[in-house]
Amino acid sequence: MTPSKITFNSGKLNVPDNPIIPFIEGDGIGPEIWGAAKTVFDTAVQTAFQGNKAVSWLPLLAGETAHKKTGQWLPDETLTALRENRVGIKGPLTTPIGHGHRSINVTLRQKLDLYACFRPVTYYPGTPSPVVHPEKVDIDVFRENTEDIYAGIDTPGGTPEAKEWQDLLAKQGQLDKVRFPETAAYAIKPISKEGSTRLVKAALDYALTNNKHIVTLVHKGNIMKKTEGAFKQWGYELADSYDETFTMAEYDRIKADEGSATADAKLAEAKEAGKIIVNDVITDNFFQQALLYPDHFQIVATMNLNGDYISDALAAQVGGIGIAPGGNINYQTGHAVFEATHGTAPQFAGQNKLNPTSLMLSGAMMFDYLGWHQVADLIRDGIKQAIATHHVTEDFAQDDTATVLGTSQFGDYVAGLIT
Ligand code: NAD
Repeated sequence: MTPSKITFNSGKLNVPDNPIIPFIEGDGIGPEIWGAAKTVFDTAVQTAFQGNKAVSWLPLLAGETAHKKTGQWLPDETLTALRENRVGIKGPLTTPIGHGHRSINVTLRQKLDLYACFRPVTYYPGTPSPVVHPEKVDIDVFRENTEDIYAGIDTPGGTPEAKEWQDLLAKQGQLDKVRFPETAAYAIKPISKEGSTRLVKAALDYALTNNKHIVTLVHKGNIMKKTEGAFKQWGYELADSYDETFTMAEYDRIKADEGSATADAKLAEAKEAGKIIVNDVITDNFFQQALLYPDHFQIVATMNLNGDYISDALAAQVGGIGIAPGGNINYQTGHAVFEATHGTAPQFAGQNKLNPTSLMLSGAMMFDYLGWHQVADLIRDGIKQAIATHHVTEDFAQDDTATVLGTSQFGDYVAGLIT
């Protein structure tokens, strides 16, 4: 088998039998969790394809490790290799501290225009959880990844740049909305129709191909009407254009024209027909509802900041960031980088102690994305079995019935289950 590149034509990925897949081990605990995850990935690929397919892993540098070796936090070769090979996977990276430094993760997402951050949140029985019914959480979060207050247009107060924002606001007759204009810091929250629409499309298309029936737009459009409110409106407009959906915007129109009884009947009819019901919830209410009635939600589509909070809060319900996977995807170009959602946990580096499950499940997501579903299922099944029989890393050890494994031993144990 000759290693070759994954390509993307007419909206479809073409995955060769021996794809080159770039990986970044990451900083802190990155090398340890990568080592454990790679053992599981290679075993699952071997079990699924018996040597007829294999991954050619391509190591890339980024983060602190890259900075020490090359002087660059995100070397150009790393970006080029991710761009050329299309699909990659990474461990956590240290965020450089100091003026002018941006998070490498944010930079990566922006440079490759990875507009959809996809974080499926689901419960693996046996995982310690702070809630009574964690098994009711099965929610796929689609977080917009390139816009919002995360654009990085963030001006410190008392600077000439802040003064320019003041002048602009004065010109627009809006400066009186700022309580302390002279000292305030100013940030910009860009939310575009294109950015919102492509994210909601990713969520709707995922619902369609994965037999999901509820898509919820989460926004704070009651306060931020022109940005988050517009996100909701554009989301509904797009959803209305799908034959397979029934939206609550449509419900409201029917209710206004023909009354509640007719609107209720049409909604019931749509549910009966198996349509995707698209609704919306204000962000603060979402946090409450997701804790009280998590089974009311299946897919969430939201903007960058909301999505950041929501995915961590939901992850906490099913056992925390040690188990939460993620992928950053551009469905229009095929580019994707899958990643552990936690950070580098530097205080634990070198101790072979923390949980590699987030990265392993991110790998499962990657194999699903490549269409290697057998591999993804093997990885998830192995993890499920290990957790259910209490073979876990320390963070998941609830009581003395647990067999506590180190990071690499957990990798070996899961690999052993899927051999
Ligand atoms: P962190 O996620 O590294 O650690 C917070 C705590 O979470 C840890 O002390 C540990 O108790 C727990 N934890 C993290 N990973 C775990 C795992 N795999 N298993 C079990 N428990 C785990 O967050 P932090 O300390 O705020 O950040 C450290 C560094 O990581 C910073 O430089 C930060 O910018 C960076 N960071 C990177 C990413 C990324 O690369 N995607 C994400 C978040 C933070």
